[in-house]
Amino acid sequence: MSLPSEPTAEQWAAAVAAVRSAGADDEVQLFCHVNPDGDALGSMLGFGLGLRRLGFTRIRATFPGDFAVPSPYAALPGADLLVPEPEAFADPRLVVVFDVASESRLGALAGRLAAAPCSIVLDHHASNTGFGDVRLVDPRAAATSVVAEQLLARLGVELDREIAECLYVALATDTGSFKFDMTTVAVHELAARLIATGLRPGEISRRVFDSRPFGAMKLTGEVLGRAVLEPAAAGGRGMVWTWATLADLERHGQPPYVLDTLIDPVRSVAEADVSVVVKQVAAGEWSVSLRSKGAVDVSGVAVSQGGGGHRLAAGFTGYGEADDVVATVRRLLDEYLN
Ligand code: AMP
Ligand code: MN
Ligand code: MN
Repeated sequence: MSLPSEPTAEQWAAAVAAVRSAGADDEVQLFCHVNPDGDALGSMLGFGLGLRRLGFTRIRATFPGDFAVPSPYAALPGADLLVPEPEAFADPRLVVVFDVASESRLGALAGRLAAAPCSIVLDHHASNTGFGDVRLVDPRAAATSVVAEQLLARLGVELDREIAECLYVALATDTGSFKFDMTTVAVHELAARLIATGLRPGEISRRVFDSRPFGAMKLTGEVLGRAVLEPAAAGGRGMVWTWATLADLERHGQPPYVLDTLIDPVRSVAEADVSVVVKQVAAGEWSVSLRSKGAVDVSGVAVSQGGGGHRLAAGFTGYGEADDVVATVRRLLDEYLN
């Protein structure tokens, strides 16, 4: 499958014109996806700070659902731009969207996007469904923050330490701390420019990756302890999976975001190409994380279930019992590989 191409010169020019057409006192609304991760929040807040440097005075940033900012990101520069969903501008002049592969990831805010006189979408998902007026979607970009940095540069915003910290957190989280295949020369060059503003990578990593409540560690231990390895699944390439319920979270007194990184130890299992974590979000509703080491395009599986993502990292919302959701994944993998 050939990847869709990067944004054209016309699209970049249209995005710059869209920002410049708004006045400094016009309302600018920024959105990122539900259950925001480091890239969603980092690219959105970094860009928001850039707009502030350009003189915009009325900027709000939000995401759908509970106003729960995962604590690793709560201290990001620009976090003062964040408002709960009900406080988003009702009728903004400009909407800018970050790291959102499909409108379904915006919940009820998708209507606000459609109604806005102008919208710009910054994203890097190959599965992006194509929405918004100006689309800056680069599936070759390691993170949405790569696209955000390019647009800031075209707008004449100079990187400072605060903007850089947001963009760096986004880049570091989406590349798995500069480990994944997307970690190109250009990624390291961008990281170098961000670090040159004076930010402290060690400090950021400790805060973002290496700081979890004790209860989160105990919960992780329990959920990893019940993982199942199926060597014959995924056409004999192996699948490893586990699940976590709302009751598990409650028992350990933890918020849902602590499960966001649970896929990382699961996907390290050598005997399996495919890893799956099924996380309950409500009765009969599960957020499913899929990863492959290379044999399977898991975004195909996710898209077939109404989700999305990248070739080797994708997700969807599943319904029923956790076992049913895993059975569906098992069947789709067999169909894909046989
Ligand atoms: P996660 O497993 O939550 O870390 O997500 C892996 C990738 O899949 C990310 O790029 C997400 O944006 C994408 N993704 C996860 N869940 C969904 C969903 N329900 N719909 C669309 N994309 C998703
Ligand atoms: Mn994301
Ligand atoms: Mn991303």
